[in-house]
Amino acid sequence: MKVLKFGGTSVGTPESLRSVKNIVESCDERVIVVVSALGGITDRLIATAREAEKVSPGYQDMFREIIDRHHAMTEEMVPADERAQVILAIDALFKELSDIYLGVSLLRELSERSLDRVVSYGERLSSTIIEHVINGAVLRFSPSFIRTTRQFGRHVLDNDLTHRCIASEFAEAPERITLVGGFISSDEQGHITNLGRGGSDYTAAILAAELRAETLEIWTDVDGFMTADPRIIPSAKVIDELSFVEAMELCNFGAKVIYPPTIYPVFHRNIPIYIKNTFNPSYPGTRIADIENLSKEPSAGGVSSISDTCLLRVKISDSAVQEATESRMINALSRNGINVFLTSRPAGCFEICCAISASSLPAARSALLAEFSSELETGEMPPLSVSDNLATIALVGENINPDETVRRKICSALHEAKISPVTLPAGSTDSTVSFMVEMDNRVKALQAIHRAFFECGY
Ligand code: ASP
Ligand code: MG
Repeated sequence: MKVLKFGGTSVGTPESLRSVKNIVESCDERVIVVVSALGGITDRLIATAREAEKVSPGYQDMFREIIDRHHAMTEEMVPADERAQVILAIDALFKELSDIYLGVSLLRELSERSLDRVVSYGERLSSTIIEHVINGAVLRFSPSFIRTTRQFGRHVLDNDLTHRCIASEFAEAPERITLVGGFISSDEQGHITNLGRGGSDYTAAILAAELRAETLEIWTDVDGFMTADPRIIPSAKVIDELSFVEAMELCNFGAKVIYPPTIYPVFHRNIPIYIKNTFNPSYPGTRIADIENLSKEPSAGGVSSISDTCLLRVKISDSAVQEATESRMINALSRNGINVFLTSRPAGCFEICCAISASSLPAARSALLAEFSSELETGEMPPLSVSDNLATIALVGENINPDETVRRKICSALHEAKISPVTLPAGSTDSTVSFMVEMDNRVKALQAIHRAFFECGY
């Protein structure tokens, strides 16, 4: 059995959906197919809700466009004798959605719960249509088995409940092609929730892991993971193979190919992931698996970056408290759900720095003010300082961190490009070396690193 996930662009137009149909129907084993909303629809659903909240009459036109797009897709792709039935089903969903938009505009308020409901229609609509496009597909309603709970003000997967719900939903699933709308889920009270933007990949990975699939295929609109973002580095190449850890690190450091939490569940069960292109199906794509680098030689996989990061700086009085302060800092941030990309202790100054995304700065600041309240009050610790407008750049590859020459090579590539990094290249795991530069230097730094490691032979 395998799980295939098709993203928004793959199901976005009649031509691409035809390709999806061919790919799925030519599989000769049992498959679970996870689909996203039609490309761009999730954004449109949100934009329409925001217009409705402003009581702007324009929301009606925006809503009309969403309806028309789904009707057009149904007309073009669903066989004539099933069309009326599908139109009836999607119109029932549009009636619910129209009531929600009306409620939002009457109350002039778009609550988080309403928005969660609004965005869920993207996958509900797409899957309702696609069930009648792929021969033999049987649709199952993902919110009844993908279950979430709340943590740090966000929906997160409830592992135990999801495990039990999937077991009972799929205990009897005789169909050869099961179709599932990705992204959407429900919480303990039965309210519709979701796994976060881009979450359909994660739905597919959860199902693959729970149902012990042989492989997980993520079908998208690019040929695979690339050595860098091709919009910045046109000479970037497709990577044939990555280890789970490398793929996880590249995603955590900004590679957009898959939603970062996707890799963990399948990694845990050692199920390989294939990244494939719906628009170029014969291309082998990228294989992500438990690849052992027997030689232990460092080998660079790719370089990626996260924009809009900032550096929180905490000054300390002497080196004796360095370790303890660093761990208190990291613990306080992670207890509050804040992701720390890297930490650094600049040589020669009594300071500890943590890189975080700019959007989590307010929460990070309050977490640290609470953690170090007494030291800050007595003046033992000077006020926290922040450097912002930075980018974090990561070079990812097996065993590159233990290798001193990799860090030296990064420094000389930056030096040649006349860039002085804000933090020096340092490793967070065996397979990542990262550093920070001013945002203005991001593109130049990525180009310099890509040239040094992927274009000049390494
Ligand atoms: N439709 C959702 C989004 O646009 C989920 C997904 O496509 O993965 O974020
Ligand atoms: Mg995606």
